[in-house]
Amino acid sequence: MASLDIGIDLGTCNMYAMDCTRKTILREPAVVAIDKRSGKVMGVGQDVCDMIGKTPGYIDVIRPLRDGVISNYEMTEVLIRHLLKKVTGSQLVKPRVCLCVPSVITGVESQAVVDATVASGARKVFLIEEPVAAAIGAGVDLSLPNGNMIIDIGGGTTDIAVLSLNGIVCKASVKVAGNAFDEVLIKYMRNKYNLLIGEPTAERVKIEVGSVYQRDSQACTEVKGRDVISGLPKKVTICCNETLHALKEPMDQILLAIVNVFEKTPPELASDIRVNGMVLTGGGVLLQGLAEALEQHTDVPARVADDPERCVAIGTAMSFDYFDQLYDGFVSTSTHAH
Ligand code: ADP
Ligand code: MG
Repeated sequence: MASLDIGIDLGTCNMYAMDCTRKTILREPAVVAIDKRSGKVMGVGQDVCDMIGKTPGYIDVIRPLRDGVISNYEMTEVLIRHLLKKVTGSQLVKPRVCLCVPSVITGVESQAVVDATVASGARKVFLIEEPVAAAIGAGVDLSLPNGNMIIDIGGGTTDIAVLSLNGIVCKASVKVAGNAFDEVLIKYMRNKYNLLIGEPTAERVKIEVGSVYQRDSQACTEVKGRDVISGLPKKVTICCNETLHALKEPMDQILLAIVNVFEKTPPELASDIRVNGMVLTGGGVLLQGLAEALEQHTDVPARVADDPERCVAIGTAMSFDYFDQLYDGFVSTSTHAH
């Protein structure tokens, strides 16, 4: 029977599944819509994303992994089942699945995700730690006695880890990442312009004109929302350099978390990182000026991985090739075999 290996990156914003055989990769936002009256699932993934901020009262939009913890197991299972079904299509083969879960997830929670994956049709499930998957996906050779720092900025969490000799030397995770930038933009627009905006608008503004480093850009964008006082629709224009100020607080928190990891890093490895540079992965690192801000603050070069959003998924899928070389604690396998 043909075998099928699938790598899944279970992110707080987006889930990715990569079919190792066909090298295809699929993305679905990690959201589920349910009908509050009946409890029935009304939609999963991209279809639901288009509804955000526009749903009537009886529809609940749930992001089960939003803050990097699993708030809702049942919905997490719905997400995994949906993704596996989409990636395996009509094939009858039960896949082996390597899962990358947010690093702040506890052992108990991981086991629940493994169980959900088995329940969704996996033949065998492996777990990989996120920084390891990110490093493999970014093409870092982990087998050497050489320190590398991986910084993954996702939606809900920023994960920082120092790796050497196939292991994690030190790491930290903070619940400040892409979503936090959207949230401060919402606050800023309300305080400065009395303008109420929703998350999708804030994210669009961040992507179009947001910057965390002083630039020459004159880019501006129109922001539409509702006036806090009159209650009527209103629009204002916001420009790149204005966002610098608005986005400062979460950026400072991320910088602080990175400095804290440097402080815990053994000196020999710290000097390797100075040479190798920090490797940046996750959708959050696409924020304009982010790499420059990190370099300026730490005086260490920063390199954005090729394809930073899909890097963890690619590394998770590639990890099937590395199983023989992996040390204990690097990947823990489930005991579930069918
Ligand atoms: P997760 O792994 O937590 O699911 P992702 O790695 O998919 O998260 O990153 C999602 C975050 O990246 C979101 O907060 C999103 O707004 C942000 N993001 C994606 N593209 C950009 C961009 N071009 N500029 C700024 N932020 C971006
Ligand atoms: Mg991620």
